[in-house]
Amino acid sequence: MTEAATPADQRRHLESQLMRESLVGQHIGPKTRTEREVRMIPDMNVITIGGMSIFDRGADALLPLIDQIVECRQRHKFVLGVGAGARLRHTFHICLDLGLPTGGLAMVAGAVDEQNSRMLWALLASNKGMSLNKENFLELPLWLDEGMIPVMACMPPYHFWEPPAGEKGIPMNGNDLGAFLFADVLGARSMILLKDERGLYTADPKKDQAAEFIPKIGAQELLDRNLPDSIIEQACVEAMVNARTVRQVQIINGLQPELLPRAL
Ligand code: ADP
Ligand code: MG
Repeated sequence: MTEAATPADQRRHLESQLMRESLVGQHIGPKTRTEREVRMIPDMNVITIGGMSIFDRGADALLPLIDQIVECRQRHKFVLGVGAGARLRHTFHICLDLGLPTGGLAMVAGAVDEQNSRMLWALLASNKGMSLNKENFLELPLWLDEGMIPVMACMPPYHFWEPPAGEKGIPMNGNDLGAFLFADVLGARSMILLKDERGLYTADPKKDQAAEFIPKIGAQELLDRNLPDSIIEQACVEAMVNARTVRQVQIINGLQPELLPRAL
């Protein structure tokens, strides 16, 4: 290892906090915490449209929602995120049957929300809908200022690098997390998930008549309650605990589009 430059040496020596750190030490955390985090696009909202809960229902669910989205765009800037639905479940089923590892499932997962995002784009094209690729985030402020409605496939690109999921086998990093990370890193104004229920219950209300509605809950408390099933991905709730800019998400019933302006 070379020694630090001596005063006799005229070269500038760069002092850095993390010099000689392994970057995995327990003590590293507080050293790297910044007091102020930049909210890159603070007037942008992120709205996701559930793949299974909304998209798979077709025109009856989607067309009235799109009318409302176009209406809302006059007052609000937002990116629409699209998830996957039944086709993803089917794909996972085949992959598991073939014995693919979790990363193999994650590698093919993105294709379905990509299809849904193209369909949504087609429906919004005449109202400044546009397809937003993950590589093009840097142009977003400009497009939002121009009144565009960017449509994004939400699956986060872990691909083969998706961590092994253990017991469950299916990728833990899905659409809800992808949309949330996007909102948090850009410092979005809000994040709204459109699904086919009014929000979170103590169990899946479609399967359990006794499920009780939970109007509001903290992310850590939700994790601690360890509910039997959830309307939002566990990985997304875990990310919320450490999030720096987006401090809450709203889940609303997308089958009642009139709720969207109120949520915004
Ligand atoms: P999407 O593919 O649209 O994101 P998900 O299947 O991931 O939809 O999540 C929405 C579904 O989650 C709802 O249709 C609801 O029936 C179900 N669900 C499961 N557990 C719960 C719960 N605890 N509270 C509310 N809904 C739940
Ligand atoms: Mg989902």
